[in-house]
Amino acid sequence: MQHESPSLPPQTPPLNLVPQSQYAASFKPASETNSASSSSAELLTPRREGATPVHQNERDPQPYAVIYPSQVTDTDTPSSSRSTILSEETANANSASPGKRYVTLSPKGSRNIIRDCPYPDEIKFSTKWHYLRNVPKFQVCSYCFTQHIEGTDVAVSFDSEMSLQGEARNCKFQIPRVQQLWTTSKRSKDFEALKALLEHRAGVLPCYGESGTTSAAGVKWFSPISGDIPGFVVCEACYEDYILASTFVNQFEVYKEKQTSNAIWACDLSLRSIERALKHCSEENDWRKFTSFASKRLKLPKCVSYEWLPTESVKWYQPKSLDYILCETCYIDSTAFSPFDKYFEPRPNELLKGRKDWLCLQGWITMKLAWEEAYQRRGYNHWFEQAQIMGSNLLCTASPVNHEKWFVLANHVQNFQICPSCYGVLIMSYGYAPYFKEQNHPGGAEKICSFFPTVRHANRFLEKLSEVIFVNDFSLLQNEIETWTNVHPCPRSEGVVGRTFYGSDDFLICKECYENAVKGTVLESQFTYSNTIFTKANKCDLYSPRMRALWAEACTKNDYDGFILICRQRQEIYLQTIPVIKAILTQQRIRLSRQKMLNASSNFYNFLNSTTAPSSQINYTGYSQPTYSYGAAGVGYGFETQFGVEGARLGQQASNLAFEGGGDIARAKYLEEVWKAVE
Ligand SMILES: [Zn+2]
Ligand SMILES: [Zn+2]
Ligand SMILES: [Zn+2]
Ligand SMILES: [Zn+2]
Ligand SMILES: [Zn+2]
Repeated sequence: MQHESPSLPPQTPPLNLVPQSQYAASFKPASETNSASSSSAELLTPRREGATPVHQNERDPQPYAVIYPSQVTDTDTPSSSRSTILSEETANANSASPGKRYVTLSPKGSRNIIRDCPYPDEIKFSTKWHYLRNVPKFQVCSYCFTQHIEGTDVAVSFDSEMSLQGEARNCKFQIPRVQQLWTTSKRSKDFEALKALLEHRAGVLPCYGESGTTSAAGVKWFSPISGDIPGFVVCEACYEDYILASTFVNQFEVYKEKQTSNAIWACDLSLRSIERALKHCSEENDWRKFTSFASKRLKLPKCVSYEWLPTESVKWYQPKSLDYILCETCYIDSTAFSPFDKYFEPRPNELLKGRKDWLCLQGWITMKLAWEEAYQRRGYNHWFEQAQIMGSNLLCTASPVNHEKWFVLANHVQNFQICPSCYGVLIMSYGYAPYFKEQNHPGGAEKICSFFPTVRHANRFLEKLSEVIFVNDFSLLQNEIETWTNVHPCPRSEGVVGRTFYGSDDFLICKECYENAVKGTVLESQFTYSNTIFTKANKCDLYSPRMRALWAEACTKNDYDGFILICRQRQEIYLQTIPVIKAILTQQRIRLSRQKMLNASSNFYNFLNSTTAPSSQINYTGYSQPTYSYGAAGVGYGFETQFGVEGARLGQQASNLAFEGGGDIARAKYLEEVWKAVE
């Protein structure tokens, strides 16, 4: 899809988190509720006996509640190679008691064999990777290796290694084109073609996903030859991985249109529904079916996660037997060409007429994750149960929510708490309930959930939770929460009082930078101060990429004294520049307000001059009047009144101030550059 102006949000982190500004005004009650709302409210009240009560927040009425109990028993899962171990598990799940079923039946991962293949995402945590001895670029995750290679006669050709924590890798085994070559290569035991493909593929830019990119990235784009799908573009990586593995190879060519520098283009194959459509239609060799689906999908608006949408602006859908609403875009992206399609039905807009705005619940990160889990592993029932939990609790939002029940870590960490729906969907369903305890607040307590994506550190916790699920080690999240929940943001070069610092008399490092860049490094043992609280104001010396690189270099060379020397020089430059810049900026603020005052006064006197000058008076006599002119040194002569002279004088003072200020600004800019060079 092509966008002519760079209006898309920046590349989102792995958990699809949206910039905070988008949330700021999102959680107000619907902007207007007309009189028909009573019928809507009635519709949304739980009707089943024994249903979990819906907590009503007076300021933000919760429009979602479960109507009927979960009776869906179908356990369809997609027929991908990744779902082979699902059928037994999901069949068992149906006979287990609700709420407990996933705790015991979910397979657990470990560092050596992760729980699932992360494809198409990359993972950055330390884990075992397998690769063909002669084709080291053929990186296979431990899940795919144990599922598809271990025990076969080619397994002996593989070596393995542990990746480092923080090192990004992705599994190549699930790439459709690699899959095709793998099938033939392993039969012939000739891996040269696979090697050539992976060597070539390593030189191709990665897919930039739904966020897209400008021409600066230098992506090579492809599009359908026939122009059957207006505006449809595919990046080179996806062309290599998907199109070349499909029966539609001849339908695509290099895109003729040139991407202009301010246009953002996003690869349309990064939409999961279009990727599924390509696979499905390619197998049927039905190009028309693919083009009509892709054309329809590209016309749909992007779902705005966590935001109220005008009810009439989109079509709405719901799962059968559950009062849970999702927008058409999410409905299509989630269910098209999937076996889950049959569980959904349109939600007639008449039933939503009571409200001008509505929320798409599938936009919540919790429900996106629950959907992936259901789709890849556990079947539709898993998602349905999570949707029930979501529907029977107040929504997790960026602003405080009133719950009687909050969940905290069993060994309590102050200021960390999660809401019932995040607890149900992200903790209980993965079997980590024993690490939490319930905190009851009769009458309710207003708090913000620590897992809401825009809350400080939530992104870090959610990413760690993902690692926890892959390797089944809850202590990782426990440590992360204990370490980070109460860490203040780095003060950078502003002095702060009463904070914890690490380092020496020559440099100090704040807790945040210590945890991010210093903890565990070899030179840490030489610090004079460790976790020391200072009562005098201190700045942090290790927030810039330059200083962090110098610290890493010092650690590699084991040169603590060299690092101290660099810090002393940097401190000298700091003292010569930052206080002067601050003084200039203060002067400049004073000067600006004086200049404004002088300009206003000058305008006032000029106005008096123009209204009282003889030339502006009406001459009733018919005789010409004697004229005088006024003036002063410095501003010139020829003013009709003394007011004119004063106006000119004040105007000139204002200009002089601006002129002087200009010189100071240039000096501040120069000093800033000097500081930036060593910052
Ligand atoms: Zn894999
Ligand atoms: Zn792509
Ligand atoms: Zn949506
Ligand atoms: Zn929450
Ligand atoms: Zn810092």
